[in-house]
Order: sequence, then structure tokens, then C-alpha cells
Amino acid sequence: MDCGDEARRAAELLVNSSYSIAFTGAGVSTESGIPDFRGPNGLWRRFDPRMAGVEYFLGDPRGFWAFYSARFKSMLSAKPNAAHLALAELERMGLIKAVITQNVDGLHSAAGSARVIEVHGSSKSVRCSRCGARAPFVDALKSYEETGEPPRCSCGGIYRPDVVLFGEPVVRLGEALDEARRSDLALVVGSSLTVHPAAEIPLLVKEGGGSLLVINMEPTEYDDLADVVMNCPAGRALESVLRESRRIIDSRP
Ligand SMILES: [Zn+2]
Repeated sequence: MDCGDEARRAAELLVNSSYSIAFTGAGVSTESGIPDFRGPNGLWRRFDPRMAGVEYFLGDPRGFWAFYSARFKSMLSAKPNAAHLALAELERMGLIKAVITQNVDGLHSAAGSARVIEVHGSSKSVRCSRCGARAPFVDALKSYEETGEPPRCSCGGIYRPDVVLFGEPVVRLGEALDEARRSDLALVVGSSLTVHPAAEIPLLVKEGGGSLLVINMEPTEYDDLADVVMNCPAGRALESVLRESRRIIDSRP
């Protein structure tokens, strides 16, 4: 699918919206080499999701850290791709007010997006399971690799990832829902919109009379409701939307 015509329509809706939000999932980061955990070749097809569960962490912190550190170490070196960079540029242009993401890789912030709501938390930090103090994941990982023991806070509590573990509720949902309620356009990128409740955020925008744009390689549950659907790689699609948005703005008297 050459998404040129769709990009023009998406850009027109975006430029004419008054408060747009982006909602992103794993597909926005695959071009950065980060696996789609739930996709056909995803981590959770090869491992039991309970390995990243809160019960496993509480019951066997040593086993949990062995699994978690091995799977999440590679995320530290990942770099933002064209999709992250285009979303950050759309925010600087005032066309996107916030990015709500299901990803934990921190790549939206790394790309320069200022308002990022990470509803599944962040892999960039850990927090103490006793006192709640936060520390960089990279430091906790170093401690784990040096000692072979789960890293600990100065209070003695074991550090846990700052991501939402299986069995835990999403975070910052109220904030994300507030953004959705005030938005008149939701730009969904790289999410199949199946992981609830976060996936209901774009639907809320549509139900409130706003527009829904979907950029995803595969069909999503909400394609029938969407105003524009682009089944293209996220980077290429967003670069086209960015280019068309600039063209529309520049051509205005
Ligand atoms: Zn502590």
C-alpha cells in the first residue's frame, strides 16, 4: 500500500484539528529493533507472560531478575526511529499535544517528545519495592550483573522494574483519559488496539465526535470507525503525514 493519498487526508485532518493526541504501541518501535512482545514472533509467544508478572517477582525475585535483565538489556541501546522523530516534530509544530504510549522503551522522550504519558510505565527506571524510591535501570542492571543478586535500594528493599507487570493495572490512566476527552483527533500508530483498557482511549475520541487516524501494518479492531487507515510502516507513514502537514501550512495565505 502506497500511503500517499491517505497521508494527505490524514494531514488535512491533523492541521484542521484543535487538539490532537497520538496513541502508540509496539509497532512504532519495531523499526528501532524492539520486539513486539505480543506479536506473532513476540516475547510472549516464546515465554510465559507470568515471567514478567508481579507474582513471580514477589515469589522469586532472583529468577525474575535473571529473566527481566536478559530480556530488557537490549532496550537500553535502542535509538528512536523516523516514526518517533516525526511525532516529536509534529508536537513542536503544535499539531500534537501529547503522546500516550503503551511502550516502555522511552524512545518518544529520547526523540524529543515533551508530553509523553507512559501507561505501561518505563523500562528506563526501577523503583524500590519497599520505599518506592526510583533509580536508573542501567545502574540496577550493573549491580545485578556484578553481584548476581537482585539489586537493592539503600533501604534494603529489592528494586523492581518501573514497568507495569502482568497482573498490575496500567498507570496514569486518568491523565490519558482526560487527554482523550479534550481531543478532537486521535492518531493511532503501531497498536492493534487490543490491549485494554488503554486501547479504549482512541475510541473515546471518536465517540466524542473527533477523528480517528490509524497507522498500523495489520488491520485493527477500529478500522471500520477510522477516518483514515494507513497499512504502512510507521516511519514512512508519519514522515509522509509530516511532509503533507508542512505543505498545507506553508500553502496557507
Ligand atoms: Zn527503598
